[in-house]
Amino acid sequence: MDDSRQTQAKRLNSLLAENEIQNKVVVYRHWPEVIQMELTSRCNGQCVMCRHYYEWNDCGKDIDESAMDKLEALLPWCRLVLINGYGEPMLSGQFLRCMELLKTYHAKAMMTTNLSVLPEEAFEYLSVFESINVSCNGAEKEDYERIHRGLHFEKFDSNLGKLMHMCGDVVSLSCVAMAETVTRMDDLLLFAYRHGVRSVRFGRLGVNRMIRNDEQDLLRYPQAAAYYFSKAEKLAAQLGIALAYPGYYPGAVDCRQCEREIDELAGLRFRYDADHQREIWEEFLQYHSKNVYENREPAPKNDGPVSCKGICDWVAKGLYIDVNGRYFPCCESKCVCYGDDWNSDAAQSLRGEFYAGKLPSFCRNCPFIINNELQLLRCERIADENRIDL
Ligand code: SF4
Ligand code: SF4
Repeated sequence: MDDSRQTQAKRLNSLLAENEIQNKVVVYRHWPEVIQMELTSRCNGQCVMCRHYYEWNDCGKDIDESAMDKLEALLPWCRLVLINGYGEPMLSGQFLRCMELLKTYHAKAMMTTNLSVLPEEAFEYLSVFESINVSCNGAEKEDYERIHRGLHFEKFDSNLGKLMHMCGDVVSLSCVAMAETVTRMDDLLLFAYRHGVRSVRFGRLGVNRMIRNDEQDLLRYPQAAAYYFSKAEKLAAQLGIALAYPGYYPGAVDCRQCEREIDELAGLRFRYDADHQREIWEEFLQYHSKNVYENREPAPKNDGPVSCKGICDWVAKGLYIDVNGRYFPCCESKCVCYGDDWNSDAAQSLRGEFYAGKLPSFCRNCPFIINNELQLLRCERIADENRIDL
């Protein structure tokens, strides 16, 4: 297909999608416009907020050729591919093939990377990227390496310099909003500024029962979080940096409660050292050998029914392909698997559930809903006293 026919195919697919969504169709003739593809589940880091902290690539692998063939079949209609799952995409043996396919089919790419590697062969594909989110939770060697265990600050810093030189306009710093970073947001902003990064995004921490990192969750310190974020906003404005962070902290600060929470944060001791990591790893191996590991994943917090209007953007227009080549509606849950059929019974039934005005139970803690990031879905009630109404 030549360039203009490629663009036209994507545009027609998009129009067809709009039409089918409006008419609440459950068997789609359009194809996914946005695909998230897990190129690998391996990582060379063991960051303290991630399952790699204790899995040590026990379940890690690269996606295979047959899954890449499935991607290629969908690319003529697809406009954007997110090449992340649960691993470092640039370590995947399929990374360069994926880049070549995206270039051939005129699809744009997004990735989140720890930037511990930046292969020279990747340089010619950097124009394919619409955005590159660089994970960083420490502005100095000591902070960086105690959070991003196994990675090296000097290498990261040097690769960030190279990346900024080649395609700085698409680069953002991607940080995790947690107790360990919230008090050092100014340092992270100044680090971004020194490198010429103009966008810094703080994402929500995934509380993990194995790591037992609930004391890192800023929902426990909402007043202190609001204080630190508002301070960071002022600095970001002075530096000309766009700052984004999860929208569930109160706007007004209650000074006394805030002081108490700041003291509590200051009293926390960082305990994610090698001994802690080994302890959790041994526990993981026990669960894993008994095949009960998945039971240790956090249970959804919201149990009450939630009504909704519309349909999740990911269900309507997106597709998640995991490292095993299986299709899911999104990266947020593995509760519904489509197999390898975009119009499978499971996919149709999920679309029908949304159109019936009932938010599927596995969506109740969805960060896209919490952060109000879905264009096609409105939730009318969330039964959780910790959360603002949507
Ligand atoms: S770089 Fe990302 S995938 Fe790798 S351990 Fe850290 S958080 Fe996990
Ligand atoms: S978990 Fe979130 S992204 Fe996934 S289908 Fe539900 S609402 Fe959509």
